[in-house]
Amino acid sequence: MTMDNTDCIFCKIVDGKIPATRVYEDDQVIAFKDIRPKAEVHLLLVPRTHIPSLNELEVKHEGLISHMLLLLPHLAHRQGLPTGFRTIINTGPGGGQEVDHLHIHLLGGNRLPGF
Ligand code: ADP
Repeated sequence: MTMDNTDCIFCKIVDGKIPATRVYEDDQVIAFKDIRPKAEVHLLLVPRTHIPSLNELEVKHEGLISHMLLLLPHLAHRQGLPTGFRTIINTGPGGGQEVDHLHIHLLGGNRLPGF
């Protein structure tokens, strides 16, 4: 259970109330395929607990965010991305964040455009 934010779509995915194609999960996080992929591989890595964005991240989340970052290369490897991958974290409306539950985009698998 995520314990809060019943309106949050990613909390619903964490709780299994709406479907998603999960590729990884443990006691702290889940990773699933983005419903509108912007690359050949497009995953979202989210904490089970509801943290709205990086703006709300606290020192107590240090272990969680480290865990998420350390997982990314493993997820990329499992998706068959030997030459690299891109990660994106959108924060707040000014950063283009549309789902208010912290998530890391993991993209790769074809030639990604530069910024
Ligand atoms: P943006 O849409 O600008 O990338 P976010 O960083 O908030 O904003 O990303 C939200 C992501 O969540 C989007 O890539 C979107 O396609 C994805 N998404 C929304 N709903 C679902 C869902 N039910 N299952 C999987 N991915 C979803």
